[in-house]
Amino acid sequence: MRTIDSLGDLAGKTVFVRSDFNVPLDADRSITDDGRIRAALPTLKRLLAAGAKVAVAAHLGRPKGKVNPDFSLAPVAARLSELLGEDVALASDTVGEDAKAKIAALKNGQAVLLENVRFDAREDSKVDADRESLAQEYAALADAFVSDGFGVVHRKQASVYDIAKLLPSAAGELVFKEIDSLSRATQNPERPYTVVLGGSKVSDKLGVIDNLIEVADRLLIGGGMAYTFLKAQGYEIGTSLLEADQVDAAAGYLAKAAAKGVSLMLPTDVVIAPKFAADAPATVVAADAIPSDQMGLDIGPETSAAYADAISDSKTIVWNGPVGVFEFEAFANGTKAIAQAMQDGEGFSIVGGGDSAAAVRNLGFDESKFSHISTGGGASLEFLEGKVLPGIAVLED
Ligand code: ADP
Ligand code: MG
Repeated sequence: MRTIDSLGDLAGKTVFVRSDFNVPLDADRSITDDGRIRAALPTLKRLLAAGAKVAVAAHLGRPKGKVNPDFSLAPVAARLSELLGEDVALASDTVGEDAKAKIAALKNGQAVLLENVRFDAREDSKVDADRESLAQEYAALADAFVSDGFGVVHRKQASVYDIAKLLPSAAGELVFKEIDSLSRATQNPERPYTVVLGGSKVSDKLGVIDNLIEVADRLLIGGGMAYTFLKAQGYEIGTSLLEADQVDAAAGYLAKAAAKGVSLMLPTDVVIAPKFAADAPATVVAADAIPSDQMGLDIGPETSAAYADAISDSKTIVWNGPVGVFEFEAFANGTKAIAQAMQDGEGFSIVGGGDSAAAVRNLGFDESKFSHISTGGGASLEFLEGKVLPGIAVLED
């Protein structure tokens, strides 16, 4: 993958940077989590220090190809200016007159933020020629392209993929770090290699399970998806989340794991409740003793301890998907135990998945104690599935 070094001396050059600033906003349009803006700073600081003129492009939400002030990047421009300690102006358009004027006015070492790339329907059009025509307009604004929005590299979009074919292009610091870290799980991982999979649905994670069952030593299953596996084992699961059409797939994974010598661990105890609610009374029962009128909302303490042990002596750990409904305090203990074991252990610890990363932050864990917390939910999953990410492939030599 080409890095910023490959672009040579950037002093006085205009660099078009694609970042991922798709941050959550509250009703007042205040940013509630600026993690993605912070993650973009190393690349921007480096380019500014090199004397480049930087035009940053990003999307926010789904304006569906129309200009819509509700999706303006204005809050991002303000926060980015604060974090960089330098004023970053916001162009009122993406490739129009204002963008051109503001880029032309940049001095070396200054940056401008272009308005939401998804205000133009060509950005994520399925028609190649549409995207290419927009990419031509982006390319006309700059001398080089830096791809740093890891959260979008699995998308074949004009500001991610097509532009890279038109300009000297390279991966930014964030994209490089993401691929470097995630590759430690896909290329010759240090063993034992343990994967913790949770989240709500088996069907969301079929691709990852298919791929990881081939390389991991241990697969620890939790979350909503665990109940489809327990069902496949013949247990009654009450009103727990069940994907009836995935029971056969789960049975297939159990058989495949046994045949390959992969230790596939399922909950031996679970925390149940009569309904899906924060204040529902929580009870611990054995995994084969779930009453017909109750649902499993977390892994139990015995399971948490067993999973923590498996994590502790692993050299590589990938965690995707909370093992319980961590949003409700009474059902967050399993997820806490996983995060704790990962941060206490010596292994290379990777957290992938938007909700898992949010769980780490919201449950009060120190992000710096994990080896890598991915900024890209879908992109990190697709990478772990072994898929080719178009926005990465286009940066290969
Ligand atoms: P990620 O974004 O990390 O990939 P997912 O989107 O797959 O994770 O799943 C996260 C969701 O799974 C959380 O909102 C959590 O509440 C839910 N979840 C976890 N365990 C259960 C369960 N036992 N029953 C229902 N939902 C669950
Ligand atoms: Mg999610």
